[in-house]
Amino acid sequence: MAKFFSIFSICLFVFFCIYFKDDLKTFYDNTFFDPCSTPITYTIGRLDNNFGLSKEEFLGTIKEAEGLWEKAAGKNLFEYSKNGSMSINLIYDERQEGTDILNKIDSSYKTGKSKYNAAKDAYDQYTDDYAILIQQRESLVVNYKQRVAAYEKEVGKWNKKSSVPASVYNQLNTEKESLNNLAQQIRGIESEVNELVNAINQTGQYLNSLANKINSDAETYNEINHSFDEEFEQGVYVSSLKFKEINIYQFDNHQKFVRVLAHEMGHALGIGHLTDQEDIMYSLNIGANSAISKNDLNALKTICSKSIFDRLFNK
Ligand SMILES: [Zn+2]
Repeated sequence: MAKFFSIFSICLFVFFCIYFKDDLKTFYDNTFFDPCSTPITYTIGRLDNNFGLSKEEFLGTIKEAEGLWEKAAGKNLFEYSKNGSMSINLIYDERQEGTDILNKIDSSYKTGKSKYNAAKDAYDQYTDDYAILIQQRESLVVNYKQRVAAYEKEVGKWNKKSSVPASVYNQLNTEKESLNNLAQQIRGIESEVNELVNAINQTGQYLNSLANKINSDAETYNEINHSFDEEFEQGVYVSSLKFKEINIYQFDNHQKFVRVLAHEMGHALGIGHLTDQEDIMYSLNIGANSAISKNDLNALKTICSKSIFDRLFNK
């Protein structure tokens, strides 16, 4: 009878273990998960090509994020291992695609703006030159007309006479030649004015097309940016019985990339969201600092000071 009971107890225990294996694992994980004494091992899972990052570069950035926590805590909290228990993934979807589009529009906007400024400077220079030339031409034309009238009057006067003294004849010829030169100078200025008018018109058209492009870039940028603001998730930490993973979907620049990785790694350490915008564990990646804040460190210290008893009762 006693034998039957012991066999029955063993069977019951085995059945219990199999039936409640998931709960037991959770219980085990919650109780003995202690990243402060045993580092979380991680590996690189998915790395989408569209980010243009090599595995080494990705790993380098992960190590940067890892270093933020470890430097602050003075502990080894994470460790890369080919068969690490947590995989870190860089997944390209519409979020990063949108960011890439925004970055492209932004750089096209900036290029457009600097082209516009250069063209505007040229345009202003052309209009200044135009005003100077027009003034020059006007005063030359006035002078020319006066001298032509005087010359014609003089010629008319001498035509009525029977003979012209050689000195007067030479003087009139010199004046005629000088007037021809003046006329040529005026024509030269006129052709310069025409060239300037063409340049002013062309630059004006170019400025208009640049202004249109700049405005449409700004509009598109704002439209896309607004649609982003509504719902945004740059990364996520997923923990289930079968696997743990960090998925990163979007970052604007390297600093934001390190911050989002450090944020999700903070979740992996068991830290929840904090309230200060500068905290790595703030719910949005809007802070500018590249270090763990005091609040972040305190949250980590709280995790590290938990005893097995606290963990057991989920304190
Ligand atoms: Zn979070």
